[in-house]
Amino acid sequence: MSAVADPLPAQPTRPGNRRQLRLVDPSPAVDLPRAERAVADLLAALGQDPFSAHLADTPRRVAASYAELLTPPSFTPTTFPNDEGYDELVLARAIPFASLCQHHLLPFVGVAHVGYLPAERILGLSKLARVVELFARRLQLQERLTTQVADWLQAQLAPKGVGVVLEAEHQCMTIRGVHAAGARTVTSALHGLLRSDQRLRQEFFALARTST
Ligand code: ZN
Repeated sequence: MSAVADPLPAQPTRPGNRRQLRLVDPSPAVDLPRAERAVADLLAALGQDPFSAHLADTPRRVAASYAELLTPPSFTPTTFPNDEGYDELVLARAIPFASLCQHHLLPFVGVAHVGYLPAERILGLSKLARVVELFARRLQLQERLTTQVADWLQAQLAPKGVGVVLEAEHQCMTIRGVHAAGARTVTSALHGLLRSDQRLRQEFFALARTST
């Protein structure tokens, strides 16, 4: 992650200044033994032998993998008052993420560029990556993931503007189906001044553009 601007130059955390934000839905209840049985059934249904030595531990591994991919790590997103009156764009670029396509249960993997124009409150830069992860660890559509990150920042931080761009490769498109290897899907969601102000909008997209 490269930070274009750092709004938190060793901010002192005075009591009462920190504000803890509300988190979205709790993690789903995962029934691991049931998931393992289902994976064994799936293997059998696919003509595989779940009892062969090679596959003996596969149901457990697969169930654990899906449980991990569907469980967002817990974190407490704390905001701070914008004491310095920082009023330029804050952008975390190329935040890596992995999510699961809700149609095929195959991964889509890419990077997120998340920016906002601060108003009264600011958020630690690392928390921008956490917010992406929070919404990525569930069955998703890239469009919805993009919108959820933008909406969450808008609702919780009430900034002057929010911009989110996601670029991802969907395995359901690249290793099967149309076999569009290397194809990347780009989605964006904008709020506030980043949506309505042409100059800010251009600045955001220019900063978010990956040149690597
Ligand atoms: Zn898919």
